[in-house]
Amino acid sequence: MHVTKTTCPYCGVGCGVLVQQDDNGIFSVKPDKEHPANLGRLCSKGTALAETIDHPDRLLYPEINGQQVSWDEAAQTVANRFRSIIEEHGPDAVAFYVSGQLLTEDYYVANKLMKGFIGSANIDTNSRLCMSSAVAAHKRAFGEDLVPCSYEDLEQAELIVLVGSNAAWCHPVLYQRMVKAKKYNPLLKVVNIDPRRTQTADLADLHLGLAPGTDAVLFNGLLNWLAENGYSADGFVAQSTQGAANALAAAKQSAPDIQTVAKLCNLAAEDVNRFFQLFGSTKKVVTVFSQGINQSSSGVDKGNALINCHLLSGRIGKPGMGPFSFTGQPNAMGGREVGGLANQLAAHLDIDNPQHRDLVQRFWQSPRMAAQAGLKAVDLFEAIHTGKVKAVWVMATNPAVSLPDSSRVREALEKCECVVVSDCVRHTDTVDMAHIRLPALTWGERNGTVTNSDRTISRQLPFLPAPGAARQDWEILRDVAHAMGFSTYFPYQSAHEIFREHAALSTFENSGSRCFDIGAWQQLSAAEYDALPPTQWPLDADGKGTQRLFADGRFFTASGKAQFISVEPRLPQSVRSAGYPFVLNTGRVRDHWHTLTRTGISPRLSAHSSEPYVEMHPCDARDQGLQEGGIARIHNALGEIRVRVKTSRNQQRGSLFVPMHWSDQFSASAGVGQLIPAVTDPISGQPEAKHATVAIAPF
Ligand code: SF4
Repeated sequence: MHVTKTTCPYCGVGCGVLVQQDDNGIFSVKPDKEHPANLGRLCSKGTALAETIDHPDRLLYPEINGQQVSWDEAAQTVANRFRSIIEEHGPDAVAFYVSGQLLTEDYYVANKLMKGFIGSANIDTNSRLCMSSAVAAHKRAFGEDLVPCSYEDLEQAELIVLVGSNAAWCHPVLYQRMVKAKKYNPLLKVVNIDPRRTQTADLADLHLGLAPGTDAVLFNGLLNWLAENGYSADGFVAQSTQGAANALAAAKQSAPDIQTVAKLCNLAAEDVNRFFQLFGSTKKVVTVFSQGINQSSSGVDKGNALINCHLLSGRIGKPGMGPFSFTGQPNAMGGREVGGLANQLAAHLDIDNPQHRDLVQRFWQSPRMAAQAGLKAVDLFEAIHTGKVKAVWVMATNPAVSLPDSSRVREALEKCECVVVSDCVRHTDTVDMAHIRLPALTWGERNGTVTNSDRTISRQLPFLPAPGAARQDWEILRDVAHAMGFSTYFPYQSAHEIFREHAALSTFENSGSRCFDIGAWQQLSAAEYDALPPTQWPLDADGKGTQRLFADGRFFTASGKAQFISVEPRLPQSVRSAGYPFVLNTGRVRDHWHTLTRTGISPRLSAHSSEPYVEMHPCDARDQGLQEGGIARIHNALGEIRVRVKTSRNQQRGSLFVPMHWSDQFSASAGVGQLIPAVTDPISGQPEAKHATVAIAPF
């Protein structure tokens, strides 16, 4: 029996798993009891991992226009196409669109090549769709994109507020931890704030089914109420924060009392009062927020509105307290470490800061650096559509399905001069549109690290041979970098070498004032790297991790104080009309992941939700002439889909829910992305994926 200790490839919980291969070569997957994220638990997706390792439709060899070619020819062709476009149109005429599925080492090399050698910051990631609003809210409040909490805070809290989070389905192991915490501590209270009543509400003492998009009103109301009722931590606010007066004035203006909040949020005043009383009177409060906050045209403000409440009450940096962003993807956090977003630089350095750009350029010894932030995901594909960006390399993601206004994204890819896709699967909606296809390794074959929602860096280790000619993404990038003439700067022969460089950059000319520091790992041997225990960054000089941030009341702003943000609540941009009277919300189902390329091949996982559907209130279904199990046509000016009807009183009147997983490839006319307008938060660029307006009728 051979056992490999690795990390689940699905969500941002980052559970440790043990992959066992018996003497007959049969694999099984068990939870790693020693991993601090899951402590011996797994969800249905993690448990079924062994069923999804033999993908029947692997991309095994490089292809150019459908013809199999050698790696040398493929890498040279990508390099030549990119180089000729750069020579003619400049570096901003090319782009990478990468993924929170990449390992940190892959992400690091992609960013280094684009930002430091091609000289553009046109590299963005599908993490833009999942947590970029939280990133921006953290930066505004703390001066850095930092998640202050640790998973243990969920067990230590006396009140957990879950806002815009269906943790029961989307972060199931953390939900299990909360269920157990409540079982052993009956005094622990849970409040769930979500327009839908999801399974997560089963754990809640109070479910606030607020009107879609009104979260900032609720948290402004809470901020004002805390101040007026003596729950302000005056000493902490005076010593460790700034901007409270302005934020309080804005809160008082928009949400002056419980009655106004209740009216604007369409909640019962007694429920709002109960929530405010619970928050105010409970010492240890964790507020978990996720896509319901982030995927909004005012997602950054919503994040800051809830962070303001933790700052005012001093509930941050202490056990069982703090605002806690749950990330969607397995390595959304790792991508942030290496500057995975178009408006970031490696090692949490700032692309808009000339000193930071200079520091990274000197470390990389690169010939040119991106001089400014690049295009964010939605803008990037629009720039492809208009012809400004002429070549794109998509890595490990499926934007033809997952981006908003996906029909326009497809048009953009069809018009693009050069579409390169590296993926492990032969057919996805995006792979099918590529001129050059590059076969990538996937989970079980790849080697590297990922970072989960509480800053824990964990190893992913291979236990399967590489199939066909597939390579890890960093190897593909390295070979293209060599073909572009940068071989001296991309000498890597292993993920271990890249990780050491990444660690060294984090401590390069770092006087201890920077937040991301894993410098203690820059000299790791290959054996130490393979045996790296899960550890929360930043590290001290001895390599010891940090469980909780801001315990000393010091933040990473210029003043060292946390910044209150004045929030003027804004409602979603799409407004119901006579033609489009329903609000469409999108999200995940329990047993599937992204666009189904992995979970879709497991019959066990597909049994829970085997086909796309729309969930709606039974009275709305009746009024629209729809029946349970019938097929509905949902449409707006952007497109139309056809899905099965499920009725549920958990859905508000006038609201619909459609899962985001299915594309036309899995079920004809089911890709909900085509109904989502390309409306984004003006600061984060995150799309408003939870509020499109549509009409629904029988098909
Ligand atoms: Fe994997 Fe997330 Fe499930 Fe853990 S909770 S087993 S990381 S899908």
